[in-house]
Amino acid sequence: VSRYVFVDLETTSLDPRSGDVWEMAYAIDLQAVVYQCFVGHALYAADPEALKINRYHERWPGLPDKEAWPWEMNFKKALNGATLVAANPAFDADFLRFRWNLWREVPWRYRMLDLETYAMPALHLDEPKGLAYITEQLGTGNPDPHTAKGDVVALRDAFYELQRIYDERLP
Ligand SMILES: [Mg+2]
Repeated sequence: VSRYVFVDLETTSLDPRSGDVWEMAYAIDLQAVVYQCFVGHALYAADPEALKINRYHERWPGLPDKEAWPWEMNFKKALNGATLVAANPAFDADFLRFRWNLWREVPWRYRMLDLETYAMPALHLDEPKGLAYITEQLGTGNPDPHTAKGDVVALRDAFYELQRIYDERLP
């Protein structure tokens, strides 16, 4: 049974009502494997600025991965009863709710964990800042920014570094 599922989605816009997910990644606790998948999506409401930031035109392979749908269902299963961890998890949760038609209930725990809020005391912030800022300040890095997999690795490394900092400070 997992405690944490670290999640990142690359999307065609910032609005879950019109945008769509085109790349997903997640990792469970400290397990070495980071799961990644290119998934089917629509582009009709895409925001060109969003596609530029996540380098859609360079990185989209042209077709979804084979077995993308079973992959997504495994992802959903991994989230079952787990704490969803993300940089601003409300964003990812909204996209997953729309995508998987989760109107009444979601598989993940009701309480999600936001890295951006979690980082505030360690970085002396008075408002949440984004993943790039946090990884830079912590020195934990990001192997591949604005890719789903790179962001999951960065998210998880930052989370455990923050946990280490808090463990040290709070006896
Ligand atoms: Mg990302």
